[in-house]
Amino acid sequence: MNTPTIEKHVDLTAFTTFGVRAVANSLIPCTTIEQLTSALSNVPDAKVLGGGSNILITHSSLDDVIHVRIKGIEVVAETTTHVHVRVGAGEAWHDFVTWCVKHDYGGLENLALIPGTVGAAPIQNIGAYGVEQQSCCVEVCVVDREHGTRHTIAGRECEFAYRSSVFKTSLAGKYVIASVTYQLSKPPHTVHHAYKDVQHALAGTEHPTIADVYHAVVAIRTHKLPDPSVVGNAGSFFKNPVVTIETYQRALESYPAMPCYPVDHLHVKVPAAWLIDNAGWKGYRKGAVGVHERQALVLINLGGAGGNDVLLLANQIADSVSEKYGIRLEMEVNVW
Ligand code: FAD
Ligand code: NAP
Repeated sequence: MNTPTIEKHVDLTAFTTFGVRAVANSLIPCTTIEQLTSALSNVPDAKVLGGGSNILITHSSLDDVIHVRIKGIEVVAETTTHVHVRVGAGEAWHDFVTWCVKHDYGGLENLALIPGTVGAAPIQNIGAYGVEQQSCCVEVCVVDREHGTRHTIAGRECEFAYRSSVFKTSLAGKYVIASVTYQLSKPPHTVHHAYKDVQHALAGTEHPTIADVYHAVVAIRTHKLPDPSVVGNAGSFFKNPVVTIETYQRALESYPAMPCYPVDHLHVKVPAAWLIDNAGWKGYRKGAVGVHERQALVLINLGGAGGNDVLLLANQIADSVSEKYGIRLEMEVNVW
């Protein structure tokens, strides 16, 4: 059927990992690209929801919300060294990564256990433990909201950058992603284990496989990050600020322990978690909101918080970090 069934007055509390209460006047589940195109022809300005793991809703009600549920994992090309796999936007990202590792296809194992859908992965170019989805993304199949036309955008045209892409900048709001094609390696694989936690977990494993990296990442994340089904959160609330070397050196005079990682010959990346922690926010609680006690970048809903309560706390943290270090934090989470 090409026309999706519209659900009226749907409680969205369970549709976002923050678990804040909001109602969608119309929720439009789309399981095929035809349904997505049909839905967009009626409500081109609808909000688009995947797994809701990078969204903070600050309104008690929203008008039209399209829920992308397009499934399917299909090998569309194969050589002796690689496969190309086309994945429906509504597939769960972690299930897809698990599928890759089971088939011994390498490239995305460092991105295990990231919540959300495949369709959202290119939007902020998800990344973890030194790998971003851009290293495997071949093309993105989209539907134009305004014209209903389908387009294929090559990965190299997506302007992928740290937690960013063309879908967050010059093409923001123009397209809805229907599927993504990834190129994955066949053995022998190159594995990435430079991050301290992964290195530590794999110490003693002489030639780690992609399955070893996958299991290490799953174990680390399970231990370190709050489970959204237990405590509401959207992962890192802020991006790690990228600052000029001069700004960093100025801050270093007052805070000699401030860490950084190189970006290019003019810039460094400062871990936002360190800035927030050292400004005294880690473990902070006020009413139903707080800052996670193991990971200062994660803001939490302890139960019953509204989106505006979380936003207020986020602004207080950003202001305090700016005052203390002269570095402005930028939100990673999409505020609706
Ligand atoms: P949603 O939250 O539903 O949507 C996010 C944005 O994408 C919205 O603006 C939405 O409109 C848009 N969107 C969604 N689907 C589509 C589509 N098909 N077409 C067009 N636009 C769309 N992120 C990382 O990068 N690295 C991590 O390691 C990481 N760890 C996390 C850990 C936890 C515990 C949590 C809760 C979050 C974490 N995240 C991480 C953030 C989040 O999981 C990712 O950003 C994820 O890609 C969001 O997917 P989603 O389907 O939930 O998107
Ligand atoms: P971590 O390993 O404690 O490191 C703290 C920060 O320092 C990270 O944000 C990371 O930047 C940076 N870093 C550490 N080692 C690095 C290296 N060798 N080279 C360059 N940068 C380095 O971080 P964590 O909080 O436990 O998270 C682990 C990974 O999962 C990180 O990549 C993080 O981005 C990702 N993660 C993301 C989210 C999210 O919602 N976006 C949530 C949880 C975890 P990067 O962030 O740039 O990697």
